[in-house]
Amino acid sequence: MLNPNDIRKEFPILEQTVYGKPLIYLDNAATTQKPRCVIDSISQAYLTINSNVHRGVHHLSQVATEKFEEARDKVRAHINAGDKSEIIFTRGTTESINLVASSFGNTFLKAGDEVIISSLEHHSNIVPWQILRDRIGIEIKVIPLDSNESLDFEAYKALFGERTRLVSIAHVSNVLGATTPVKEYIDYAHTLNVPVLIDGAQSIPHSNIDVKALDADFFAFSGHKMYAPTGIGVLYGKSEWLNRMQPYHGGGEMIQTVRFEKTTYNELPYKFEAGTPDYVGAIALGRAIDFMNEIGVDAIAQHEQALTRYAVERLRNIPSMRIFGNPDSSAVSFLVGDIHPADMGTLLDRLGIAIRTGHHCAQPLMEILGIPGTVRASFAMYNTVEEVDALVAAIERVAKMFA
Ligand code: PMP
Repeated sequence: MLNPNDIRKEFPILEQTVYGKPLIYLDNAATTQKPRCVIDSISQAYLTINSNVHRGVHHLSQVATEKFEEARDKVRAHINAGDKSEIIFTRGTTESINLVASSFGNTFLKAGDEVIISSLEHHSNIVPWQILRDRIGIEIKVIPLDSNESLDFEAYKALFGERTRLVSIAHVSNVLGATTPVKEYIDYAHTLNVPVLIDGAQSIPHSNIDVKALDADFFAFSGHKMYAPTGIGVLYGKSEWLNRMQPYHGGGEMIQTVRFEKTTYNELPYKFEAGTPDYVGAIALGRAIDFMNEIGVDAIAQHEQALTRYAVERLRNIPSMRIFGNPDSSAVSFLVGDIHPADMGTLLDRLGIAIRTGHHCAQPLMEILGIPGTVRASFAMYNTVEEVDALVAAIERVAKMFA
């Protein structure tokens, strides 16, 4: 069993007060706080080994390169990828998905080809496909929700046709905090030889990810939602796809030889890592992965799921409470009566409670649900039952003010 009060000691930012109240940070789906060891790994890298990677014969550059590649191997092991050449460092989930839309699109897609996404995608898994649609004329098919506010698997199967070329869906919805059984979605797509991209931004911080067991063709995530710094993320891709895909950005590092007439490209993963990478961010991501493993991903998951269940149970007792979807991971989205989410957010903030309000970068889902936005509380390893109690008490107080 994980003890959040011990863990909190590693997160100095949580010790502060806001408007004279102890900070209760429940906006972890947007970004998590960083433990001291991750922050230290950044300053240690700059204090002791900073040097541009891959290009230097000198000592520092070699050490920096070793640490950077070590981080890549930590990511590989963490998601059980077969080879570290399948781990591409990006700026985050958004860039990872844009990379696939652009490179997979340029290589394999033609006008009339179809990409399947879902009703509950983040804008970062909608807009890149629309850009591709505007550029080359692909079609986008959308998996609807069922009456239970989950993705409709039967409707998903019915979307496949002759021209379906790719499926791109979220593992866990950042709005509903609900897990889609993506393994079934992947297996079905594979029976029709269609590859699948999984947006793992909201799953990898809260569960063990095994890309081999999932058989995902691509898996995208962001470091900053899993205790690592901003600006670093990952695209995992099966080498059989990545090898055939055209590069994304052009520049240094992604080339083998450059002539004005013709350029040949570097091997994986460097073909997709143009320019100086965020090697310090990658090293810090490696440290964040070590940190999660020291605590235990299963223990983290159990703790967060227990907090979520407890929060749902307590929130349900508040009159006029509407909880959306079927939260089973670490986030709960809700509305109370006709209190606007922005009002709720502002008043909770005055009580020291940081939650997120609005459309959560999922405007199409808001439209489907017929609401302007939600209030979302999302948990991490350092949150406590007492904080959930404080959230519930604060919501009750706000609800009384509006009654
Ligand atoms: N997908 C999902 C499900 C997310 O929750 C987020 C972040 N809110 C993203 C994609 C985008 O992640 P980033 O902004 O780190 O690129």
